[in-house]
Amino acid sequence: MKEKYTFDEIVTHLKSSGFVYQGSEIYGGLSNSWDFGVLGSWLKKNIKDLWWKEFIEKSPYNVGIDSAIIINPKAWEASGHLAGFSDAMVDCKECKGRFRADNMIQDATGLSAEGKTPEEMDQMIEENNIKCPVCGKHNFTKARPFNLMFKTFIGTLEDSKSTVYLRPETCQGIFINFNNVLRTSRKKVPFGIGQIGKSFRNEITPGNFIFRTGEFEQMELEFFCKPGTDLDWYKYWVDYCFNFVKKLEINEENLRVREHDKKELAFYSKGTSDIEYAFPFTDWGEVWGIADRTDYDLKQHSEYSGKDLNYLDPETNERYIPYCVEPSVGVERLFLMICCDAYERQQLDENDERIVMHLHPALAPIKACVCPLSKKLSEPATELFNELSKEFYCEYDESGSIGKRYRRNDAIGTPFCITYDFDSENDNCVTVRDRDSMEQSRIPISELKDYIKARLIF
Ligand SMILES: [Zn+2]
Repeated sequence: MKEKYTFDEIVTHLKSSGFVYQGSEIYGGLSNSWDFGVLGSWLKKNIKDLWWKEFIEKSPYNVGIDSAIIINPKAWEASGHLAGFSDAMVDCKECKGRFRADNMIQDATGLSAEGKTPEEMDQMIEENNIKCPVCGKHNFTKARPFNLMFKTFIGTLEDSKSTVYLRPETCQGIFINFNNVLRTSRKKVPFGIGQIGKSFRNEITPGNFIFRTGEFEQMELEFFCKPGTDLDWYKYWVDYCFNFVKKLEINEENLRVREHDKKELAFYSKGTSDIEYAFPFTDWGEVWGIADRTDYDLKQHSEYSGKDLNYLDPETNERYIPYCVEPSVGVERLFLMICCDAYERQQLDENDERIVMHLHPALAPIKACVCPLSKKLSEPATELFNELSKEFYCEYDESGSIGKRYRRNDAIGTPFCITYDFDSENDNCVTVRDRDSMEQSRIPISELKDYIKARLIF
């Protein structure tokens, strides 16, 4: 059983080793903004590549697209984001602090204000005599909705006619391309359209490092099926996503699937499940949401665009708006879950400790580190590095003792360290040291690529 570590310890490690940097650090940072570093950019890329492989390439049903971030604002009217995608905010009239009303109520009283109207929240704030979390006074404006979409302008005129929004989710770009994909892909229902891309939400209460940020990347699949088959497909995708998470080698005791009860569901949804992870900062945090969205989205876009988004079944000649099942996950959430789960501080003996990131080799930023035992061996070792680099991302390290080089690589999750020593010239073998077991094996150089590639399979 793995030891649990504090969130602070894990975050400190991710920042100090090059996974995540504070955004705009030299300017004092920017609220809620993070940059992915030398190793973090690799981990993110590897996560996205695996998702694309499992959800698009390997699936017989799905295709991918890459739609624009800024789309016609009418699409946000149709999706309900212009009218309803908001949090109720209150301002403190004394100190000018601004707070999300539901969070302030929850923190002060433990009462949930989820789904309450702004008027009901005002009443709760009055009845419980809630004080400002900053200045401690009780003098608030009325609660009012604050839209979470980032607003900007297209063209040179900054007026309401040129107002556009940064997308708060990638899926609407999929729905509005439904007919285009049908026309150009030869897919028939059931089929899915996936995409990976940035989304933006002007979150008022961000937090927990990269768990909730204003700018993030989503990997979404919209899976279209015949009405009546939707609940079967919903179960299919819940299992598919859960298996994906398990294949990432996440400890199962830290995972659960939570089905939303009826009153939690959006009015158009027939079922929603979250895959949750036991993050160190909370009991359970949502990682992946899988929702049966019925025909809501295509119907809305059909109505607002005036375009027919019915599907004509070529076998039965039936016309219908397909139902849609949506598995939606944030790259940063998976990233954080993977890192929390992989992190371990191991006491090897009384004076020796190591930090090791048990990343699945397919996720590891660096697959192998080539370490010549002595600088005198740098020429053949560099040759070996060049050869391996054609296949996967490697590093070359000849500084410090071998033990130190192993520790550096353990801490960033490199699964293999390859030592080129004085015998290598004669026996054409190298020593491969395994990150997790720390075991060393003598492997012929001619078999090395295949040896490593076999362990990178997801
Ligand atoms: Zn105040």
